[in-house]
Amino acid sequence: MSKVEAILSQLKDIAANPKKAMDDYKAETGKGAVGIMPIYAPEEMIHATGYLPMGIWGAQGKAISKARTYLPAFACSIMQQVMELQCEGAYDGLSAVLFSVPCDTLKCLSQKWKGTSPVIVFTHPQNRGLEAANKFLVTEYELIKEQLEVALNVKITNVALENSIAIYNENKAVMREFVKVAAEYPQVIDAVSRHAVFKARQFMLKEKHTELVKELIAEVKAMPVQPWDGKKVVVTGILLEPNELLEIFNEFKIAIIDDDLAQESRQIRVDVVDGDEGPLYRMAKVWQQMFGCSVATDTKKSRGKMLINKTIQTGADAVIVAMMKFCDPEEWDYPVMYREFEEKGIKSLMIEVDQEVSSFEQVKTRLQSFVEML
Ligand code: SF4
Repeated sequence: MSKVEAILSQLKDIAANPKKAMDDYKAETGKGAVGIMPIYAPEEMIHATGYLPMGIWGAQGKAISKARTYLPAFACSIMQQVMELQCEGAYDGLSAVLFSVPCDTLKCLSQKWKGTSPVIVFTHPQNRGLEAANKFLVTEYELIKEQLEVALNVKITNVALENSIAIYNENKAVMREFVKVAAEYPQVIDAVSRHAVFKARQFMLKEKHTELVKELIAEVKAMPVQPWDGKKVVVTGILLEPNELLEIFNEFKIAIIDDDLAQESRQIRVDVVDGDEGPLYRMAKVWQQMFGCSVATDTKKSRGKMLINKTIQTGADAVIVAMMKFCDPEEWDYPVMYREFEEKGIKSLMIEVDQEVSSFEQVKTRLQSFVEML
């Protein structure tokens, strides 16, 4: 097995076994893990406690039954899965759960938590342009800090926070480089591998993830760049999984050369900037500077233009919209983006992501026809 294959295999294992990653961490450090509900949270604060931050992104192919008691059938697919897992006690090993509520479904779910872990709910202000929004979010972060300190019996110092901010900023920078390298070497980093590198960062200490990805980048860059005879796409949406779906991209030689997925590049888009203000204020500013995301209100609706620019700059053949089933914020953005794609002659295809399904024949047919049309 080559070094590249070995690193990818390690990251794929972690991405596929979050429970094992959490148990290993507990055994190694004696500390537990804190769950993070999508989409954004001041994860650096959890890192500063020494607990492992764990992303909570549902599961694939799990039949929904218990969740139906608490959520209507038209709640988004990912939260149906999260509720089902909660009812089964899947998150009860977490020491706490951090819960932002930027959409109606998350608001609803935050009031119906069925697990036993303490839940810390906070709000992102949606009138994001105002300085008052930063100040409001700082007060929310102060409350999170107090609640984490009580729940975990730790003290979060500014020194620890600054250290965690530096670790996260470095990880984001390395991941942005990884995106470029993956685009240059689609033969080496296929759609499944690319996703695994992103997903594993949800279940690892970021400094360990950074080291592995740096090593991966160095190994890949030492290889010659080969011409790509397939198609290239930019993908957008909440998430694009499972591997069975991504394998269809590989089968039809569709390289993902950039993404705007909430689970992937939106997580690495904005750094915490340096400055004299305290760490909580600088972390709060990240929300104000976030762009191109369906849950971060943008009156100028710039996501479509951002995707068009990405498509042109990367030389992509098309945009693929991975529409999370029954996700209102994504559905509201789509008509605006679609009109802009049409006006600029950018080819696009929308596919539905439903975490309950386990058969992907329909998506396969649509992707195959789309590639033939391209
Ligand atoms: S943003 Fe969309 S996918 Fe995420 S919780 Fe809200 S409705 Fe569900």
